[in-house]
Amino acid sequence: MSNKVISGFSSACVHEGHVQDPMYAHITPIYASSTFTYDTAEQGMHRFEGKEEGYIYTRWGNPNFTEAERKIAALEAFGLQDENGKDLVLKGILHASGMAALTTLFLGNLKAGDAILTHFSLYGGTEEMFQKILPNLGINSIIVDMHDLHATEETLKANPHVKMMYLETPANPTLQCVDLEELTFIAKKYNLVTAVDNTFATPYLQQPFAFGVDYVFHSTTKFLNGHGTAIGGIIIGKNLELMNGFMTKTHRLLGGNSNPFDAYLLTQGIKTLELRMERHCHNAMEVANFLEAHPAIERVNYLGLSSHPDFAIASKQMKHGGAMMSFELKGGLEAGTKFINRLQLCTRAVSLGTCDTLVSHPASMTHYGVPKATREQYGITDGLIRMSVGIESITDIINDLKQALQ
Ligand SMILES: *Cc1c(COP(=O)(O)O)cnc(C)c1O
Repeated sequence: MSNKVISGFSSACVHEGHVQDPMYAHITPIYASSTFTYDTAEQGMHRFEGKEEGYIYTRWGNPNFTEAERKIAALEAFGLQDENGKDLVLKGILHASGMAALTTLFLGNLKAGDAILTHFSLYGGTEEMFQKILPNLGINSIIVDMHDLHATEETLKANPHVKMMYLETPANPTLQCVDLEELTFIAKKYNLVTAVDNTFATPYLQQPFAFGVDYVFHSTTKFLNGHGTAIGGIIIGKNLELMNGFMTKTHRLLGGNSNPFDAYLLTQGIKTLELRMERHCHNAMEVANFLEAHPAIERVNYLGLSSHPDFAIASKQMKHGGAMMSFELKGGLEAGTKFINRLQLCTRAVSLGTCDTLVSHPASMTHYGVPKATREQYGITDGLIRMSVGIESITDIINDLKQALQ
């Protein structure tokens, strides 16, 4: 029996989702078991009918998945109310990867003939899924500049088959933001399902459910896990009937389930989310100020800088500017390559949201699959460098950048 009072975000990070282990282990053990047993045939039947709570088969669910799902759902709902003024309750479904979670999201909500309305500069994998996989199933996507609310609405008027509005804010790697409040308002007028990729912000910096969206998606691989130890993804929804019904069915049948070890690592990682994000954001602000003032730097895209075109939108819907930035050196690609090769402390790797600072080159790495002309239209020039600022001591990060820029 527990009467835990959880009023702060960090308390939620630490305690939400946890249930007392039957063996009294302090930390939920790794339930490495493909199936679960019944005392009687009747008990098995009741679990299948949903009359009795309990696990059946790990593709369907597992205690380690449940803990991570409840924790993340609680963080996305933290401090929010539903339409009736009650504490918002959300349901999360954990997956093997972000891309697996997106597969469930799209196939569970769309059918042949439907279309998705989205914007420029999405995560490379999402973009490729929209271009290379979904069209084969009769699901097309329409790209519009969502900074232009009028154009967005005109596009919806002209395309009544649009069923979903898919947003990624901040988006990769230019840190473009779109206005969640305005766009959700428009989406509701046209009866669209709205989904937001909240991977870069995390629920600590931004809560899209505050604006009435239907789904939030995360690649948990990034800041939620926080340590780069496991791939994972989650969709979180507010329509509980749908989430417990058809979305759960879709997840189980597509088979993109997580595994107990990765879910366990995710759960441990989330416990320090607020601490890490505060440090990540503080460091990122320092790094951005340093780079912006450096004579070798052409421009810096960081949401904490008033020079970013979406500074106002970010300030409205995010707590801080986040840990992600991108920048270009004055010497373009050649200078950029030299800089990356000279780094000693910062790690050369794609991905993001780990404790160490990661540096990558979008044009040749994360956005290699996106045609050059399209890339440049999104601001992903050949010389652009992306950085996920870590939680190291800030002096060491700055000193490494300094020596690499010399
Ligand atoms: C990494 C990432 C994804 C894809 O997630 P995986 O866990 O790699 O499958 C989607 N969106 C964003 C913004 C990401 O950073």
